Amino acid sequence: MDFGFTDEQEAFRAALREFGAKELAPHYRADDVAARMRPELPAAMAGMGLTGLRIPERFGGQDADAVTTGLAAEEISRADFNSCYLLLNSALVAEILLAGATEEQLSRWLPPLARGETVPALVLTEPDRGSDAAHLGLRAEPDGDGWRLVGEKTSISLGMYAHVGAVFARTGPEGARGVSAFMVDMTDPALSRTALDDLGSRAIGRASLYFDGVRVGPEDMVGEAGEGFRAVMRGFDYSRAVIGLMCLGVASAALDDALDYAREREAFGQPIGRFQGLAFPLVEFATQVRAARHLCYEALSLKDSGKDPAVPANMAKWWAPKLSVDAVHQALLTFGHAGWSTDNPVGQRLRDVIGLEIGDGTAQIAKLVVARHLLGREYAP
Ligand SMILES: Cc1cc2nc3c(=O)[nH]c(=O)nc-3n(C[C@H](O)[C@H](O)[C@H](O)COP(=O)(O)OP(=O)(O)OC[C@H]3O[C@@H](n4cnc5c(N)ncnc54)[C@H](O)[C@@H]3O)c2cc1C
Repeated sequence: MDFGFTDEQEAFRAALREFGAKELAPHYRADDVAARMRPELPAAMAGMGLTGLRIPERFGGQDADAVTTGLAAEEISRADFNSCYLLLNSALVAEILLAGATEEQLSRWLPPLARGETVPALVLTEPDRGSDAAHLGLRAEPDGDGWRLVGEKTSISLGMYAHVGAVFARTGPEGARGVSAFMVDMTDPALSRTALDDLGSRAIGRASLYFDGVRVGPEDMVGEAGEGFRAVMRGFDYSRAVIGLMCLGVASAALDDALDYAREREAFGQPIGRFQGLAFPLVEFATQVRAARHLCYEALSLKDSGKDPAVPANMAKWWAPKLSVDAVHQALLTFGHAGWSTDNPVGQRLRDVIGLEIGDGTAQIAKLVVARHLLGREYAP
């Protein structure tokens, strides 16, 4: 399998690196301290095509392949991990829409998403149901030709900023086949939200959402009734590799900074990089990060060639966030006392990247998916 990037992809990477250095990295810490998303960020991301990557050109998007989307995620996260949630949410929600929505619905929802005018949220998790999402309990109660949504969701990234949400609710019996997907106007007066006070990714935050009879019609349902759970799981099968690259982008940036520091910082009369006890752990993490990148890109190129990416994507989801946490931790230790200061981005990178050991499914759930493929479905719990 060839993982070489085309000249066009390399040019896009170079443009993103410049954009990240100028427009994103300078705000990484300040946005964390302020615990808010800069209002101008979605338009800036859209200006680089990053909110429309997976959206067809006829709806104003870039029609980028999955590999290019992963490359963009990796590059943006090097500069500002949190801005990349805008890319991720748009790509994931677009994927769900393209799999099930009608042409009329696509024309309604995709163009403003691509232009960065509407920020999307993926609204799946509930206070009592996270990993076991097939048994979610948000009720879609019949109301005329539509439904009213009643219940609570939580842990929704960008939940305080999103204009639309891909919301998963129960229209049918208990279990996966009773779950349907709706695109919901998040400004509906029957929907209220409260912000969570998080350890990391504070610039984009998470929210709890309260649905007090939010009205949705057949025109808001994506795909057939009972198709919602399958749609989101199909989306996860590929977005997990994009998430892997988000985390590995942060790990690479932290390791690069640590290597620079190891060349300059002196102890016992010589650069600390000359001590193998310091250099070898960095080499070991650089090796593993490189291997994990290949796994992510394998999943994305499978997706591009119409093959099932589930095994490498879920391998990437359990491995890449954990590996990145460990690599960033090692980078932090390389800086000694300087790594403990908030002047150095390494501590924030560590807090931020831990979140994606949980978000979009924990390591255990990703391993369950892989086990199902390796052992056979009859071994699924
Ligand atoms: C940074 C971040 C961003 C997020 N963004 C979103 C978002 O945008 N939209 C959204 O809907 N949700 C989001 N989430 C929620 C996330 O998807 C859930 O937290 C996750 O799926 C786990 O669910 P839970 O927290 O309810 O844990 P639980 O399901 O209660 O699990 C608790 C622990 O038990 C383990 N466990 C559960 N079942 C099994 C099993 N069968 N075998 C072994 N171990 C098991 C889990 O791995 C975990 O360690 C986000 C979470 C975080 C931290």
